[in-house]
Amino acid sequence: MNYEKLAELLFPHIDKTPADYEAMYPARDLPAGAKVTRLGPSPTGFIHLGNLYGAFVDERLAHQSGGKFFLRIEDTDDKRYVEGAVEIIINSLRFFGIQFDEGATMNGDIGDYGDYTQSHRGPIYQCFAKKLVAEGKAYPCFMTEADIAEIHAQQEAQKANPGIYGKWAKSRDLSMEEIEAKLAAGTPYIIRLKSDGDMSLPEDQIKRFQVEDAIRGTLDMPVNDQDTVLLKATGIPTYHFAHVVDDHLMRTTHVVRGAEWLPSLPIHVELFEKLGWEVPIYCHTAQLMKLDEEGNKRKLSKRKDPELSLDYYRNEGYHPAAVREYLLTILNSNFEEWRIANPDAPIDDFAFTTEKMSNSGALFDLNKLNDISKDVLLKISAADLFDFLKAWAEEFKPELLHIFEDRAYLEKILDIGRHEERNPRKDHIYAQQIIQNISYFFDDLFEIEDDFPQEAAGDVQAIIEKYLATYDHKDDQEVWFGKIRQIADALGYAVKPKDFKKNPDQYKGHVGHVSTVIRVALMGRQQSPDVWEIQQILGEERTRARLSKFL
Ligand code: GLU
Repeated sequence: MNYEKLAELLFPHIDKTPADYEAMYPARDLPAGAKVTRLGPSPTGFIHLGNLYGAFVDERLAHQSGGKFFLRIEDTDDKRYVEGAVEIIINSLRFFGIQFDEGATMNGDIGDYGDYTQSHRGPIYQCFAKKLVAEGKAYPCFMTEADIAEIHAQQEAQKANPGIYGKWAKSRDLSMEEIEAKLAAGTPYIIRLKSDGDMSLPEDQIKRFQVEDAIRGTLDMPVNDQDTVLLKATGIPTYHFAHVVDDHLMRTTHVVRGAEWLPSLPIHVELFEKLGWEVPIYCHTAQLMKLDEEGNKRKLSKRKDPELSLDYYRNEGYHPAAVREYLLTILNSNFEEWRIANPDAPIDDFAFTTEKMSNSGALFDLNKLNDISKDVLLKISAADLFDFLKAWAEEFKPELLHIFEDRAYLEKILDIGRHEERNPRKDHIYAQQIIQNISYFFDDLFEIEDDFPQEAAGDVQAIIEKYLATYDHKDDQEVWFGKIRQIADALGYAVKPKDFKKNPDQYKGHVGHVSTVIRVALMGRQQSPDVWEIQQILGEERTRARLSKFL
């Protein structure tokens, strides 16, 4: 068979040679050890935690080593394409602090290794498919869908491995005359890899290959035996072929991707070898798992777990610094230890490594994220927190923008208890929750949410009347509480809770019940930070007005 002739016959329009592209995309001029990474999302409009998780690894590997990190749009599957998806990808990742050095942007490509959108690179893929055909390593396949369904049925009946390989690859050994006749008749075809693998051999004779995965160590797998599709009938490549060509020409050194790609690694390794290229260092990240209600580990699912979508964190108003901090704790097992030793260091000082990544499933836990968020937000000043919350409200809750009218007031609210030396309040987790938590400071959001304590429910009016009668906004905390004790005593409540506990029949309740009446009247809630402090922030007028409503 004259493969060169076959290649010309199939790709008459391809006039560039592989050497042309090698010259167009020369090796990068980077310091020794610099890593080149890429994120290759498909523009499906759904950007998930896994994308961010991977992007984080890419970003750290590249930027810690003086390398480059680029964005490539993998849109070869046009059925999944969603308008505006590229914008969503770029914006969401930027929000979480992921910046690309080159690649697709909203205003076209940046960088010398583009085009960075796979659907624009048709002739490049075809050039390399042509090379493989010319070397007898790929071939046109004319099988119809019906043929393939038939093969599949036979394989099932014979309990053979599914797929197109070996004797099932019916177009593999067509003669030039047969191919010419089919082409002349306009028979549609695809281009398949002519795989060397042979799985029909006895187990111990099946060839294996080894690669070093940066996260998983040595991977030892049987070679590929599938005549994988390289180009579809439209001339568009499959992911397998496209990413191999792109990662070579874009001079990617590290391919970070999810473990779901492990089963197709043999195909990719065979492709790199057949094209005569060095295999990049693969870093197959662990799947994101969660503990379900029964305590079983399972994969995060798009359908069941809203927290898989990055939108979830933006809608809820998680601070990007908290999400980054949390992702690092699940990405690198030594991060938490480092953080304890370096509580105030910028997060990028942490030396991230693929060796410290788990390969057995990273456990994602919203409660843990929330805990970390509390610590992270504690370190953010009230002024910055104000700006963050306001930006969030502008996007997600414009009806709440009025709470940002008085900056000093809101900053005081945000700072309640945060500067206590020993046990600072860590109330803030994410925007939605923070605003809900402090809503009672704003008259239009204020509501009585809790009941008055049962012990004092009959004395609400009396308590408030006495409280207002002696209320002096200038009282310090001690004087203020002394007055509450007096009210308690006068109305038959124990001044000390332990007296009430000892002799419950002698009292209606204790001083705590009395102050809770005031708390509920002022804040609408039984739980809140210190009442005296809240009153100082609310101001005298608002305090009196709220209490007077109960008389
Ligand atoms: N386009 C692939 C995806 O969205 C990317 C896989 C890779 O990074 O190689 O899953």
